[in-house]
Amino acid sequence: MLDLKIQSADQPGDDTAGDDTAETETARNEPSASDAISRGSMTGGNGPTSVGPHSNGASPPGAAGRHVVVIGGGLAGITAAIRLREAGAAVTLLEARPRLGGATCSFSRGDLQIDNGQHVFLRCCTAYQDLLARLGMTGSVTIQDRFDVTVLTPDRQARLRRSGLPAPLHLTGSLARYALLTPAERIRAGRAALGLRFADPASPALDDQRLGDWLARRWQGERARRRLWDLFIISALNIAGDDASVSLAATVIKTALLGRNDAADIGIPAIPLGDLHGQSAQRLLARLGADVRLAAKAAAIEPPARPGDPFRVILARPAPAATSPDAATSPDAASPSSDENELTIADSADGPVQPDNASFLEADAVVLAVPAAAAARLASAPLAARAAEWAGLGASPIVNVHVRYDRRVTRLPFAAALESPVQWVFDKTRAAGVTSGQYLAVSLSAADEYVDVPAARLREQFLPALAAIFPAAADARVLDCFVTRERRATFRQVPGTGRLRPGPGTAVPGLALAGAWTETGWPDTMEGAVRSGQNAAEHIMSELAALGAAEPARDQRVKPDGIAARASS
Ligand SMILES: Cc1cc2nc3c(=O)[nH]c(=O)nc-3n(C[C@H](O)[C@H](O)[C@H](O)COP(=O)(O)OP(=O)(O)OC[C@H]3O[C@@H](n4cnc5c(N)ncnc54)[C@H](O)[C@@H]3O)c2cc1C
Repeated sequence: MLDLKIQSADQPGDDTAGDDTAETETARNEPSASDAISRGSMTGGNGPTSVGPHSNGASPPGAAGRHVVVIGGGLAGITAAIRLREAGAAVTLLEARPRLGGATCSFSRGDLQIDNGQHVFLRCCTAYQDLLARLGMTGSVTIQDRFDVTVLTPDRQARLRRSGLPAPLHLTGSLARYALLTPAERIRAGRAALGLRFADPASPALDDQRLGDWLARRWQGERARRRLWDLFIISALNIAGDDASVSLAATVIKTALLGRNDAADIGIPAIPLGDLHGQSAQRLLARLGADVRLAAKAAAIEPPARPGDPFRVILARPAPAATSPDAATSPDAASPSSDENELTIADSADGPVQPDNASFLEADAVVLAVPAAAAARLASAPLAARAAEWAGLGASPIVNVHVRYDRRVTRLPFAAALESPVQWVFDKTRAAGVTSGQYLAVSLSAADEYVDVPAARLREQFLPALAAIFPAAADARVLDCFVTRERRATFRQVPGTGRLRPGPGTAVPGLALAGAWTETGWPDTMEGAVRSGQNAAEHIMSELAALGAAEPARDQRVKPDGIAARASS
């Protein structure tokens, strides 16, 4: 799914191949009654998550002894695998890349651990925080005591900070003082935001509207849209603010800004994403006895030919060794392109798929937790019509410009910027393990205009832009500057996409969908991904429970070559 290009402006040939050679912890699983998982359910963690009928942690009967293959090791697949394993299912997790974590990942660059792109969450992202707790990673993120955002321009700054008052009063004082809008604009902005309070995000009529049009009808002029609404909508929905679906924007505003008064407090990883999600998930899944297979790509899913038959998940042939930089097909391999300053990380999940019909897994159920386009390719005949719609969700890029200075240039942990190409900038010094100077990452959402711009030109544009908002940067020496690009960071969250997002269930019993792009009631975010994984697991458990009433669980065998087979009945 990801097409991550790493470009070096300063260090030609620097190897950013990453730390994706992490040892694979693979545990074979043959659950039995004595193998019952007694750990707490993910949903019993530290937040009021309520997803699906069994979100109180009680597992429906039926999963025990069944074999479920989860395809895709991003946050959605990780969540589904944990939940299903906790319910007693034998779980095999297939991930095309050599690491878990999907769209949240890190790689090494010299002494730094670089994230593919800055990720933030809000206190209202309860399912995501439950997952962090389950992974033992709650202490590896920081959350603001109070929502507090500094907004910088080259000549002044403003601050949006909540008070302790209940919502929506918690933001009124801050909005009333927001110096980048006129007093009249502030009043009108407050009214428009409150208007969203009563909007129903699930309404198709709302999903058909562009946010820009909706706001303009509520007296939100160009300045208010650019100086206030864009601040949050572009980064939350990864789409130009005016083009966003009103429905998804309403979800963000209602949940984060008009919900509980602490809902929008911002959380940030304190360690590299690869450690926060991928490594910790691999450890937990190994402990739970799940069979995690990295660099293992599913090529096709064959539904049961007759009721009672198993699914067959056909694996892809291992990709041939790369013969040229452009043909780099080994998972997440980094290769220099014709421009020595550019390194491309090829994505194993996107390359050509050669089914290896001799390598397959048999399963009672399958969770397909891959990006929309990959799911559309893997979906089999009965789902073909719907699958074509999933591909229609499209993709929107995110670009990060990483700059390492020889000294500290700002004391802010992060800031938003206006009247500047910088949208948001984050201090990554500590999280990346930098011990001297300062490392900043500029995060550019809805980055269509930047995604194909060479790193050297982005450097020319963004170093002066950073110096304009952080004057100390003008005197600092730049030690390194490079760019990460995610062409398909999220789907394009524009009007009309609500009806294209499928729920977890499909027309094929036993085959469930997960992924931040599926219908979760949330935008394409880490929270959405985790919720989708929970939804898919609950769905499969319900279906297996129904199946269990008709057909007792059969033995599972794992052949020496690691291919799980079903005992013939
Ligand atoms: C740069 C960037 C910044 C972002 N910022 C934020 C943010 O600040 N806050 C936020 O909440 N969200 C953010 N997001 C979005 C968030 O990362 C995603 O919504 C979420 O991680 C998606 O998880 P997922 O499991 O649904 O999909 P993915 O993470 O895409 O996982 C799918 C997995 O399936 C694998 N796969 C694909 N095909 C196959 C196959 N055939 N066989 C086996 N495996 C396969 C892929 O390799 C991948 O690992 C950002 C995304 C990016 C890229």
